[in-house]
Amino acid sequence: MRSRLEEKQRGTALGTRPAPLATDQLFNAGHAEAYWQQATRCVDLVRRKVAEVDRPFTGACPEELKEHFAGIDLDAPLGELRPALEELERVYLDDAVYFHHPRYVAHLNCPIVLPGILAEAILSPINSSLDTFDQSAGGTFIEQSLIDWTADRIGLGQDADGVFTSGGTQSNLMALMIARDHHGASLADHGGNKHEGLPADYRRLRILGSEVSHFSLQKSAAILGLGYQAVMPVACDAHYRMDPTALKARLEECLAMELIPIAVVATAGTTDFGSIDPLEEIAALCREHGIWLHVDAAYGGGLLCSPRYRHRLAGIEHADSVTIDYHKTFFQPVSCSAFLVRRRSDLRHVTHHADYLNPLCQAEAGTPDQVNKSLQTTKRFDALKLWLTLRIMGAEALGEMFERVIDLAGEAHAELARHPEVEVLLEPPMSTLVFRYRLAGLTEAELDELNAYVRSALSRRGEAVIAATRVGGRRYLKFTLLNPDTRLEDLTAIVERIVNHGRDWCEAQAPARAAAS
Ligand SMILES: *Cc1c(COP(=O)(O)O)cnc(C)c1O
Repeated sequence: MRSRLEEKQRGTALGTRPAPLATDQLFNAGHAEAYWQQATRCVDLVRRKVAEVDRPFTGACPEELKEHFAGIDLDAPLGELRPALEELERVYLDDAVYFHHPRYVAHLNCPIVLPGILAEAILSPINSSLDTFDQSAGGTFIEQSLIDWTADRIGLGQDADGVFTSGGTQSNLMALMIARDHHGASLADHGGNKHEGLPADYRRLRILGSEVSHFSLQKSAAILGLGYQAVMPVACDAHYRMDPTALKARLEECLAMELIPIAVVATAGTTDFGSIDPLEEIAALCREHGIWLHVDAAYGGGLLCSPRYRHRLAGIEHADSVTIDYHKTFFQPVSCSAFLVRRRSDLRHVTHHADYLNPLCQAEAGTPDQVNKSLQTTKRFDALKLWLTLRIMGAEALGEMFERVIDLAGEAHAELARHPEVEVLLEPPMSTLVFRYRLAGLTEAELDELNAYVRSALSRRGEAVIAATRVGGRRYLKFTLLNPDTRLEDLTAIVERIVNHGRDWCEAQAPARAAAS
């Protein structure tokens, strides 16, 4: 039997019409009806799935999932939608991790709002690329107005600007790149990093962030040619907020050692604890020393929409640049994120004019090409998701949902703090709860093992998906609360299971421990 590829090649060779394969699947006027019918089938599949999912995850392990892929030959297409969807259900949807489920409380993945999903249904088929105006037209103004709206909520002032990015990691990279190049541009004997590469003093450049800041600072430093060595951790207070006294000492240390601090990164919502660094005090120190202040508000950005908790971000308006992740606390589908600067001219460090795409004359004529401000060229129209969300629901509705999970974290903390077998690390500054299961008489090493066991037991049974982290070298468990549908009862039920698994572990270990002692 001939393969379909051979059939097709043969058909072409004979000058006959090739087998009905390729152009049938193009999105165009002729296929609008087919598009609609097939899209409906996909939507229907998702509708059925979301209605039947009764746990956040089946607990399938990588080895089990990998088996599904053994018989699949990517060079043997199924030819139509139905069997492809059936296969997809088996290899992906049946065992997907469902973030919308109330007992998914692991990472910073939010349940998403309908307007954001509906926007995906529009932005994918139209497929605008938000690099140049001539590929996006009105899309450019949608993205720009959301940047302006966000900058306005932050209070960055009239000269602010920014661009949508793929996530907080890219936004933080942009921030540190611009801070690095801002320093490069200030040197009398250097023609700027863009043209000449790193300046002679590059080994002395330092980036200061709290010891619990996001790992993308290290990654960025490495990418930017400065290395991990350039990231100077600043000590925190007991609430995991950057200690301004420690920052002051670090800055003085830099001066004494002839190091050059190019940026201070304040975190507004640390990934593990939700702690917000003291922005006002940090901003004052940055101003005094003339250092770039970047605020990483990837997690805490949602407070911009919260009437009750907006004040927790006080001081963010002093930032030179800000990271906001709409795909975390604005309940948007991945990806949806932004990078903002106080002075639009600072974005010139990422600008490059290509004759075929965004020539200088085009910029001079006032054409708003987003690519002039972006690390990316072809760029998704992610802004549409936030746009439709604001146009349908409004910002306060988003803020209200975030407030609910912040309040839930407070209630859950009170509950956990009373539990004799649970040690809670701190009162939640935002919506994460860090704790561990603890029984008297166990060593720290045993507690580490026990808590790791508890987490995998929960996930393996699909009872809940929770996160884990290390604090002071010890293993802790973490609830990241972003689902306004999660109830206190969901959390207490998870804790009950944690306790049961913990006790099981102790019982199973008892003979070994008795023998050892
Ligand atoms: C999530 C997070 C990031 C990274 O954002 P991505 O969108 O995952 O790339 C950066 N900083 C903080 C504080 C975060 O919580």
